[in-house]
Amino acid sequence: MSARLYDVALIGGGLVGLATAYALLEPPRRCSLVVLEAEPHLAAHQSGRNSGVIHSGLYYRPGSLKARTCVEGRQALYRFLEEQQIPYERCGKLVIATSARELPILADLQRRGHLNGLQGLRWLRAEEIPEYEPYARGLAALWVPETGITDFALVTQALARLIGQRGGEVRTRARAFRIHRLGREIIVETTAGDVRCRVLVGCAGLQADRVARLCGLHPDLRIVPFRGDYYELIPERRFLVKNLIYPVPDPELPFLGVHFTRRLDGRVEAGPNAALALKREGYTRWSLSVRDLGEMIAFSGFWRLIARYGRTGLREMARSFSRRAFARALERLVPEIRAQDLRPAPSGVRAQAVDLSGRLVDDFRILEAERMVHVLNAPSPAATASLRIGQIIAARALAHLEGG
Ligand SMILES: Cc1cc2nc3c(=O)[nH]c(=O)nc-3n(C[C@H](O)[C@H](O)[C@H](O)COP(=O)(O)OP(=O)(O)OC[C@H]3O[C@@H](n4cnc5c(N)ncnc54)[C@H](O)[C@@H]3O)c2cc1C
Repeated sequence: MSARLYDVALIGGGLVGLATAYALLEPPRRCSLVVLEAEPHLAAHQSGRNSGVIHSGLYYRPGSLKARTCVEGRQALYRFLEEQQIPYERCGKLVIATSARELPILADLQRRGHLNGLQGLRWLRAEEIPEYEPYARGLAALWVPETGITDFALVTQALARLIGQRGGEVRTRARAFRIHRLGREIIVETTAGDVRCRVLVGCAGLQADRVARLCGLHPDLRIVPFRGDYYELIPERRFLVKNLIYPVPDPELPFLGVHFTRRLDGRVEAGPNAALALKREGYTRWSLSVRDLGEMIAFSGFWRLIARYGRTGLREMARSFSRRAFARALERLVPEIRAQDLRPAPSGVRAQAVDLSGRLVDDFRILEAERMVHVLNAPSPAATASLRIGQIIAARALAHLEGG
């Protein structure tokens, strides 16, 4: 067992865990902490396998944690990227309505955007769309100038470096597998040895509910993994997309629909869809974990989820297995796109919490217990919002620390 007693141990070396550690070490505070990461390197899961979009805050219910932290987190992130000299572009994006049914939803998004404090939103008529995206078509569109792109793996690395400079520790290959209390201490048994701490913070992404259960808690939700498959445009067809082109999302779902994203290196990605995955860290269409699947089907909320969203789920699965079906969704935004313009790109898996009634938990969810804080739901836009979410979790962890 390590002789040192840390003030705080954080489980999870993704953006949320690292941003929390960074906020805990904000000068002049002196707090000893260690970040425990299961994998050999940081950003191995969601934080390193995402679209790289700095979201504006357009979509989220005004007043929700997502809305507040996305807008404030975006502003903090742009400052951080500038200070740390991490490449980014504030390139803006288009959200395009391609059917009459989508027009009122798009208008509602514009209202939400205003309520969330977004600047410079512009409603475009059909004939104005090509001024922004020459090959895109639709009935109307919303121009969102505050959206940007970056590489979140670089943000993760910068945070880890700054944590080290501020006296914190980041340990990789340290998977927490047993956690118990011993008097006023919490003992975390990891694959790199035991760690003693006063306060524990769980930021374990795809394993968030399991880490909470390791701590003896019984959250009323489960993480259900949703794989996001991507394609990229073959280089000769990249000219079809200048920046970011999104469809109008289904207001019932927290996913945004397959879209086009230009990356900083000039590649243009298409995706991600949202297919139910049979393994939490399963990055191929055929990945399966008996444990993950068994736990999923033993959870009553899972069957209610299937009953609620089964039809949408089948459509998303079809897109996983058929490039043509994927291309059809993209064609609505850019009619010249053909299946042969797409080649497969690496997938990501979202950690999406599902409650007992089978609903996809929409907002970020944080659970507190005695000297513990657990982040149970931090899907998109948590990369954008991470610096602000980190401050909120850090404040809660410090309250536990100061409360003894
Ligand atoms: C396909 C996809 C696209 C996305 N696109 C965007 C986007 O464009 N913009 C945006 O803002 N957001 C986006 N997101 C969301 C964003 O990436 C995530 O919300 C964010 O990265 C979550 O960070 P995290 O730290 O909670 O999780 P993770 O990055 O998953 O980190 C959790 C860490 O905990 C570790 N861990 C788990 N269990 C243990 C254990 N027992 N012991 C020790 N360590 C453990 C894991 O190894 C992992 O590294 C996207 C997500 C996906 C999947």
